[in-house]
Amino acid sequence: EVRVRFAPSPTGALHIGGVRTALYNYLFARKHQGKFLLRIEDTDQNRFIPGAEDYIRNSLDWIGISPDESPWKPGDCGPYRQSERKPLYMEYAQNLLDKGHAYYAFDTSEELEAMRQRLTAARVVSPQYNSITRTQMKNSLTLPADEVKARLESGEPYVIRVKIPRKEEVRLNDMVRGWVMVHSNSLDDKVLMKSDGMPTYHLANIVDDHLMGITHVIRGEEWLPSAPLHVLLYKYLGWEESMPEFAHLPLLLKPDGNGKLSKRDAEKHGFPIFPLDWTDPNSGELVDGFREAGYLPEAFLNFLAFLGWNPGDQRELFTLDELVEAFSIERIGKSGTKFDINKAKWYNEQYLRDKSDEVLAEYLQADLRKENITVSQEKAEKIVAVMKERATFPSDLWKEGKFMVFPPKSFDDQVVAKRWNQDAITVLAAFKEKLLAAEASITAEGFKEMLGHAAAEAGIKLGKVMQAVRLAITGVGAGPDLMQIFEILGKDELIKRIDFALE
Ligand code: GLU
Repeated sequence: EVRVRFAPSPTGALHIGGVRTALYNYLFARKHQGKFLLRIEDTDQNRFIPGAEDYIRNSLDWIGISPDESPWKPGDCGPYRQSERKPLYMEYAQNLLDKGHAYYAFDTSEELEAMRQRLTAARVVSPQYNSITRTQMKNSLTLPADEVKARLESGEPYVIRVKIPRKEEVRLNDMVRGWVMVHSNSLDDKVLMKSDGMPTYHLANIVDDHLMGITHVIRGEEWLPSAPLHVLLYKYLGWEESMPEFAHLPLLLKPDGNGKLSKRDAEKHGFPIFPLDWTDPNSGELVDGFREAGYLPEAFLNFLAFLGWNPGDQRELFTLDELVEAFSIERIGKSGTKFDINKAKWYNEQYLRDKSDEVLAEYLQADLRKENITVSQEKAEKIVAVMKERATFPSDLWKEGKFMVFPPKSFDDQVVAKRWNQDAITVLAAFKEKLLAAEASITAEGFKEMLGHAAAEAGIKLGKVMQAVRLAITGVGAGPDLMQIFEILGKDELIKRIDFALE
């Protein structure tokens, strides 16, 4: 059975790259009738941020990809928070110690710093605790056995480090990148157990993936450099046979493609890169969410799916079920994906237009309520039916459609300068006369005919004055179908507006 996991650290708001990782895991699990787990990786207590876990949960719920097993929906292999699994890890560290694949290290932070400075002075590019430098440090490989024993018994703080071999090739076959090979000389003796008895990410991650029966590890490319160490740990723990397959997802790039997408890009360009609004409880820092910016979950989901994957054909609009159907790791790109907010907007427009007028009217009514304006449901539905073609966000229905309720107080100067002339005035006046003589309820068709006649009788081409007519009624030079607007406003309101424009 396929079992995949999303393993976020609760260190702040889950950014869009994290949500994408969650989505791809979800799609892969559903595609193969497997399970999608969520594990909270909170072994780094210093970076723990309260509320971050709820944020993760709410973000996934919002787009409908809730995990099958998680801290809030435990399955058979809990707990699903690493901090609650703390007692579990020492056994595996001990196993590595016993086999000689790990060792105790007693170096103080001052000693570690001194080593770094020594190496830097000797022009070593990346100073590391590794197979060469460990010989000069205080650890169970260099100290006599009885001293090590005494230090441990006296309660002196220590860490447990992995013993990386010299001159070994470590290979892994990544499902996205193909064969990846690194030389063990470039790896350092990473800490597996910290002095507070907490495992580090590396140990906890491998132990938990094993105990939770994870078959495929799908995660961001930033974890690719850690993968060789993970491969070694699987081997040392004797779990090589059941080692999961790896798929490292491409980076998300800045809109111009130059480098990794960052929070600063979002601030600079004023677009969201987080699913939901979030205020950091410590710093008070605020980030904007797609949800609050007016993106529909369907649109965000669809946008997200295409950040690094494509179906290989022309289709662009996918429901979650359709994504499951179409998804495959083979169609994930190797190179980074440019973040293009216009694409997200486009998706939003498509899904907005897809909604019934009844649903869209709810959005409009909510905005109207805020301004204490009452409009019948029937009229609200008519307004949104006309406005939706031009709306990107639900809030545009009201923002761009204010003229449907309020007559213009002023007129767009540029359009006045270009389009307002005697012909326009003549046609509007003639149109008004026809309106006065007409019956009460007139359809869009009816208005069109009347306006056409008014122009024809005056010998003026309607096309030449059309924009001025729009200006008189709405105050601006562009908008949705004018005859539909006429129908919604009705004869009496049109007469009032024409009077005001002709004043
Ligand atoms: N806790 C890691 C993170 O925050 C998980 C990496 C992994 O999936 O192995 O991204």
